[in-house]
This record gives sequence, C-alpha cells and structure tokens, in this order.
Amino acid sequence: MSAAGGRALSAPLMGRDGEPTLFELSEPGRSSWQLRTTGVPDWSEDELIPSGHRRTGPVPLAEVSERDLVAHFTRLSHRQFSVDLGAYPLGSCTMKYNPKVCDTVAALPGLAGVHPAAPASTVQGWLALVVELEEALCAVTGMAAATFQPAAGAAGELTGLLLMRAYHESRRETRRRVLIPDSAHGTNPASVTLGGFQVTTVPSDARGCVDMEALRAALDTDVAGIMLTNPNTLGLFEEDIAAIADAVHEVGGLLYYDGANLNAILGVVRPGDMGFDIVHLNLHKTFATPHGGGGPGAGPVAVSERLVDFLPGPRPVRLGTGEGSPEGGRPDGAGEGRPAHAGPPGAARYGWATPARSIGRVHSWHGNALVLARALTYIRVHGGDGLRRVAERAVLNANWLRVRLAGSYDVPFDRPCMHEVVLAAASLKRRTGVRALDVAKRLLEEGFHAPTVYFPLVVDEALMVEPTETESLQTLEALATAFERIAAEADEEGGLEAAHAAPRTTPVGRVDEARAARTLVPTYDARP
Ligand SMILES: *Cc1c(COP(=O)(O)O)cnc(C)c1O
Repeated sequence: MSAAGGRALSAPLMGRDGEPTLFELSEPGRSSWQLRTTGVPDWSEDELIPSGHRRTGPVPLAEVSERDLVAHFTRLSHRQFSVDLGAYPLGSCTMKYNPKVCDTVAALPGLAGVHPAAPASTVQGWLALVVELEEALCAVTGMAAATFQPAAGAAGELTGLLLMRAYHESRRETRRRVLIPDSAHGTNPASVTLGGFQVTTVPSDARGCVDMEALRAALDTDVAGIMLTNPNTLGLFEEDIAAIADAVHEVGGLLYYDGANLNAILGVVRPGDMGFDIVHLNLHKTFATPHGGGGPGAGPVAVSERLVDFLPGPRPVRLGTGEGSPEGGRPDGAGEGRPAHAGPPGAARYGWATPARSIGRVHSWHGNALVLARALTYIRVHGGDGLRRVAERAVLNANWLRVRLAGSYDVPFDRPCMHEVVLAAASLKRRTGVRALDVAKRLLEEGFHAPTVYFPLVVDEALMVEPTETESLQTLEALATAFERIAAEADEEGGLEAAHAAPRTTPVGRVDEARAARTLVPTYDARP
C-alpha cells in the first residue's frame, strides 16, 4: 500500500464537514468483492424466481472499491469512542474491555463457518461448547438449566416472563401482576407488559432498597412474581433479599433476577442461593462480547429445577446412554467437553431435545451462537477464581471512585456500593447551574466516555458511574481528576457558559437529543 496514495485519496474526504456516505463515494463499476467460480451450473432466473416476483430495475447499492471501503470505515472508526480506546464508565451497561482471545476463538472456521441447520452428528463440538457453557453459567447462578435462544437482555426478560406464565398456567392459576422496584431498568416494565402482565411498582426506601412494608402490602395471590436485580440498579445490595424471597414465595409468586450485570457477584454469591427462580444474563455485558451500536448479544435465561420443563426448545443436550452411547468416549465422562469428532449418527454424544412443556421457540435457530463461544472462552481463561477476582475488583474500583469523588459530587447513598456508584450533580446545579448533562459532555473533552445520566430515575441529576474491573488505578486516577476538574471549573467565573459549550473537541458538538425521536423521517415510501 502506498502511503502517499492513501493520503492523496483521503485528504479531501476528511474535511470538517464530515465523512461522505458510501453512496456519495459510489462510482459505477467499482466493487469490493470477487466471487469464486464454484462449478455449479448456472440456472436461469426464469427457473428460480417467478416473473411476478422479479425486480425490474437494478438494486440501488453503492459501488466502491475495497480500498475506498476500508478507508471509509477506518475514518469513521477514528471519530468514535470505544471500549478499546479508553475508559467507558457507562453505568448499568458494563462497557468493559473484552479480551481479544475471545474473538480469536469465535473466529475459528470450525465455529464461525457452521450452518445452524447442520445435523447434530456433524456439529458435536458446537453442541459440547453450548452444553459446557450452560453448566458453567448454572454453576455461576445456582440454577438447574438454561436456554441460549434469547438474543439480548430484554429478549431474555420476555422469555423469563413467558416461563413464569407457563408455570402458573400449569398449576391452573391465573395471576396478572408482576412487581418491580421503582429503581428498575426500563426494560423490566416493558417486558412485563409485553408478556401480558400488569406492572405494580414497589417504592424504594431511604436506603435505596426495596421498601419491605410496601412490598408486603402489594403481595397477594394475583402476583405472578417480582423482577429484581441484586445489586439493584442503584448499585446497592438488597440486604433483605432472603425476606423478600420468602414473602414472594409465600403467596405463590416467582422471583426473577435481572442478571444483565453480573460483574458484582461473579463467584461471590448466586441468585439461586438468594431464592431466585429465573435469571437472565447479558453475555454481551459480563462475558466478553463487545456491545453497543446494535451488535449481536445473548441473553440466556437460567431457571431452577421446577421450570426446566418449560424452557424453549430445541436445546443442546448431552445424550444419555440410551439415546446414543459415546463411542470412543469414556464412560466416566472424563474428557467430556472436548469437541468430539463427527462419528456415525449412533455415536453422537450431544443432540437436540425439546422440553416436555416447552413454551416453544423464542428465536429462529439457536440464538447468536458466536457470542456463546466468546463467553465460554472468557470463563475458561479466567477459571472460577479469576471470575471471583473480576467481581472483587469491579466492586473495589467503584468504591474507590465513590470515596474519592464524595468531595466534588453528591453521593445520594453513601455506603459501600457494588460494581457501580450513583453520584449526583444536584448540589453542583444549585450552586452553579451546571447539570449532570453538562458534566457528561465535558467528560468527553477529557478523553472519557460519559457516565449514564438521569438514571436511575429516582435520583435527581444522577451520574451513574461503572468503572468496571478492567481499568487500572492510573486510569481511575485520571477519571477522578477529570470529574474533579469539571466540578472546580463550574465554580469559576464563566463556568456555566464553558460547560454549555462542551464538547468542543469531538467530531460533533451538542446534538439535539430529542429530535430523532420527535421528527421521524420515513426512509422509504410504503405506498404501492
Ligand atoms: C442492559 C440491561 C438490560 C437490557 O439488556 P439488552 O441486552 O440491552 O436488551 C436489562 N436490565 C439491565 C439491568 C441492564 O443493564
């Protein structure tokens, strides 16, 4: 590649006005791909597609060379912030650094190049991987079995609520309400509604935990269950969890654990031991799949023994001796989990099975499978002790920031937090006019991603900071110093105007946060 050529091409395209779209770069006849000849004879269009279904004009796609395409996306990537670039303390999102070894494994052709419809006998390694991951996640959560079909956290929530519904229906009970604390993630009430239940909100008490009296008052036999997360969305551990579990179980309800962020409890405490019946996990938050920007996720749902029969199917299973004995395997199961080679169908050690009272499929095929390969790699690389250290360090880092920043920001719940700390800019705003949003925008100028702002809703001017275990003490120092500098500057003369001008160093400044939602632009005309 000639550097001079690259500069000559890209310099005029990198102006301040922004990157052209691929359509603006398009020149007829250019392309970025070459198809190999396969030896498969050509079929005429007439034989393949009925004439009424055939396109009449060319497909309106951009035509660009590979060189221009790579330059386009590389330039765009330089205008972005990412977990690979620096600290990304976006609370409740666990934007932590994802080890590259996980991508290396997920890219292995034997994993990436497999068709999801391949017969079980030819994908024994894949099935072994999923079964082993299921066992590992059950060990982490204290549950009996899991489904990997849900493609993200919210899809896992809906699956969990459908399981809850199926369970109550199997007992010939109709229960309409699901309890949710007022600090909950916004997807929880949305999933409850989508699952056909009604939301009953339970208020938090002064310590930021579930108000036990309000909970008891809300409980009756119309309650299908409660959705909680522990640590809760304020980053605080629900100390009354055992009493909550008893109270909900007493009226026949189930406990759902929103395990989107497992960073605080990995290897330390298990939802199953706290009394939960259903848990969803976000593998794309805790277990090493990059996320944000709509990339693929996985929201497996793990359940206790009494719900296993309702899980979506088909699910990968280790075959019992009756169903096909592990020819060449060892009867004691040692060596299991190593990819078995495709043998004759009778020799398969893993297969598919649909539970007796399954709620059916919640995803075509088997979920976002390569996310599962990353998760198992992450678990194997860390081991049980390593996962526990992840949790310990995530909690330590959040508490370090809580103590350090208590002098510059409000700490609404000033007691040990878990993997994230909720700060607030309420006093700063009263004193200087500088709001949580301004702090977030200024932080971008300091080379950090912004924290989550104005969430949880129960905290005024909330700044929710999740440093994660992957940041070093030096990075935490730099982040804390940036936070402190922003607060100090707000107190100076002209501080408010300066704060409103931020961010001045990013490719775009302040954007209209609501316009996209208010002014919908139809992308195509649906009229015939
Ligand atoms: C991220 C998150 C979710 C939703 O997960 P998605 O994968 O974005 O659907 C649910 N609950 C909590 C607490 C979360 O942080």
